[in-house]
Amino acid sequence: MRIVLLGAPGSGKGTQAKRLKVELGIAHISTGDLLRAAVKDGTPLGLKAKAVMEAGQLVSDQIVLGLLEERLAQPDTQSGFILDGYPRNLAQAGALDDLLARIRQPLDAVVKLNVPDADIVRRCELRFAQEHRADDNPATVRRRLAVYAEQTAPVADFYSRRGILTEVDGVGPIESIGDRVLDALRSRVRA
Ligand code: AMP
Repeated sequence: MRIVLLGAPGSGKGTQAKRLKVELGIAHISTGDLLRAAVKDGTPLGLKAKAVMEAGQLVSDQIVLGLLEERLAQPDTQSGFILDGYPRNLAQAGALDDLLARIRQPLDAVVKLNVPDADIVRRCELRFAQEHRADDNPATVRRRLAVYAEQTAPVADFYSRRGILTEVDGVGPIESIGDRVLDALRSRVRA
C-alpha cells in the first residue's frame, strides 16, 4: 500500500507511521527525518537546510524532492510506503504525482490526522522538553502552524477532490488513533 499521512506538525504523523510500518510491512519515509539526518551529517544539503528548518519554514521543493526520489529508489519501498511530511504544498503534491506516475507506483490513500491547534502546541512543548528539537520551541511552533495553514492545508483539498482523502480524529490514546487509521485504510482497500 502507498499512503500519504497528512497533519499539522505534532499531529502524530511520525508516531502513527511507525505503527503502520509494522502492521502493513511497508517503508516509513519521513522527509523531516531525512533532512535532520543530512543536517546531523553536515552534508552540503544539510547545511543549506539547517537555518530554514530552525526558522520553521519549508526547505526548498527541489532539495526535498531530490531526497525523496533517492529514498524511493531503495528496494524496501517496493512493498509500499507511508509518506510522512510530504507533500507540504501544492507544488510538491504535483511533483509527487509526476514522480509516482514515472515509477508506476500511484497512491492508494491519503490519511489526514485532525488535531486542534491547542493540543498541537501542548504536544510540541512536550516533545521540545523530551527530544530538544530546535523547531519545537513555542515561537517556531507558531510559525510552523502558520506555514501549515497557508501552504499544507490546501494539499488535503487537492486529494479530497481526487476522492482519496480520509480524515481521522487524531485526539485520544495513541493506540485508538492507530486503530482508527487502520480501519480507515482497510475500508478504503475494500471500497
Ligand atoms: P517534520 O519532521 O515533518 O515536522 O519536518 C521538520 C522540518 O523539516 C519542517 O518544519 C521543514 O522545515 C522541513 N521539512 C520536512 N519535510 C518537508 C517538505 N516536504 N518540504 C519542505 N520542508 C520540509
